Amino acid sequence: MFLPLLRLFQCFLLFGFCSSSSISYENLNIAIVSGYGKMPRNVQIELQRSLIWFKNAISVRKFEKSITSTELLNVYPKFSWINIQTAEKAQDLHVNSLEFAKLLEMSNFVILINRDIQKCQIDSELLANAKPLTPEGLNRPKFAIMNVCQNFQFSNFFDLFRHEILHALGFGLFIPFEDSIPNRYYNWWTPKGTQNVSQIFMDFSKRAKRVVSSHFNCSTIFGVEADGFKKNHLNEYIFGNELMTPNLESGQNYFSEISAAILEETYFGEKPWYKVNRKYTIEESQKYWYGKNFGCNFIKFSCWKFLETAGNKLTFPFCSINNERYCLITPTYKIRLSLKNCQQTFNHQTQITENGLKAFPGATFSNSIHRFCPIDKNFINIPKNHRIELC
Ligand SMILES: [Zn+2]
Repeated sequence: MFLPLLRLFQCFLLFGFCSSSSISYENLNIAIVSGYGKMPRNVQIELQRSLIWFKNAISVRKFEKSITSTELLNVYPKFSWINIQTAEKAQDLHVNSLEFAKLLEMSNFVILINRDIQKCQIDSELLANAKPLTPEGLNRPKFAIMNVCQNFQFSNFFDLFRHEILHALGFGLFIPFEDSIPNRYYNWWTPKGTQNVSQIFMDFSKRAKRVVSSHFNCSTIFGVEADGFKKNHLNEYIFGNELMTPNLESGQNYFSEISAAILEETYFGEKPWYKVNRKYTIEESQKYWYGKNFGCNFIKFSCWKFLETAGNKLTFPFCSINNERYCLITPTYKIRLSLKNCQQTFNHQTQITENGLKAFPGATFSNSIHRFCPIDKNFINIPKNHRIELC
């Protein structure tokens, strides 16, 4: 019997319907169970909001049998009193109670809260991480573990939980049976010389590759660039404020058609494990603006090549005088984009990017996350509900 393989993980979704075949799908009803009690009220509210979002946005393959308390105790044996959060409510219940059994029965995916203090201490910027437990045979997972660090100062827990729960479903964490797209090696061009760098590509991304081609307006891409050899995330430099990049912005992170396609392709066997309700996600996908129409020079070569050949198009958040014709528009203010936030002072001498690029001596632009490119440093703090348009 084939057993799906899980990657090592490291990281900083009311529309039920039936297919025409015998396989049926239902709304994703997640139960979060915790032996550690509730999280702070504002965080717990965002967790519940994310569960409501998943219930609306994602459908899952139906299991013949519902999840039982006995199954749960096999994988989460330490606790007798448990806080259980669903899209509807949160309750403290005994694991042997009838009410607990009923709530589990109504759920089709269970996430077990864990506290990995050591992992949180090693990486002080880590907010949470999650992974599915290895599923049986070719079935979808039904249990996952989520570690939430006691670091509750972050301002966007809704997107954090969406991000982690997508990992819990398997995003970026399964290894396909068939061969992956080979790495690409190419010359990264800058005005001060070139360096040989690598491109590593996401698995389960045949359809996502077409979406990326269309978004960036480049028909000759090799694949969907990943954030390093573990292939857990979309590449931060290429995909910016997409929800499944490794660094979440405090403003909006978009669940675009790129991640939706990867999630739907992540499965073993004959039929997909997950289906995304486009009626629910299309608006967010359309709002995802980072990299739109940036072209092949950006996605295949370098930010410098892109900026040199951009003509008069918008290059934000990468810095060019073209951006000064555009305005950032929020519900409360409108501000013209400028170059004043582009020059930065970092000591790059020891930094190396995820694709193997080293900073040239004297470089004064962004850090390794954005490949030392000239990028507006306020980009990560852009508020929610914004748009960028000609002034
Ligand atoms: Zn992650």
